[in-house]
Amino acid sequence: MRVSTVSISVRYSKQLADASYKTVELGLEASLTSNTEDWQEGQRTLYTQLGDQIRFVFNGNGSGNGTAKVAQEPAKAELPEPPAHFCQQHRTPFVKFSKNGRSWWSHKLGNGWCREA
Ligand SMILES: [Zn+2]
Repeated sequence: MRVSTVSISVRYSKQLADASYKTVELGLEASLTSNTEDWQEGQRTLYTQLGDQIRFVFNGNGSGNGTAKVAQEPAKAELPEPPAHFCQQHRTPFVKFSKNGRSWWSHKLGNGWCREA
């Protein structure tokens, strides 16, 4: 079976100090670009990136800072669309490179490169 797209969603919630729950749900769909790309590996990568993004929001970097107001509203609409290949560390999108039949994602960083894990 040829799998051409991967779609995932991640749900993350925790109980706040006032006993209300804060929940963030993210979903995205990614297209696989070559026949050799392992969709399961791609899905794992997406899960990792989504997880990082959600933790980033939860740690107070997103809007709301965990107020009770945010906890009672669907947080989904406040989150930006998570790009499939985006360096959270440097807030920079990765660019795809291909050479000798291999491909990878990276972005320029100073005199060198930051490569997607
Ligand atoms: Zn980077």
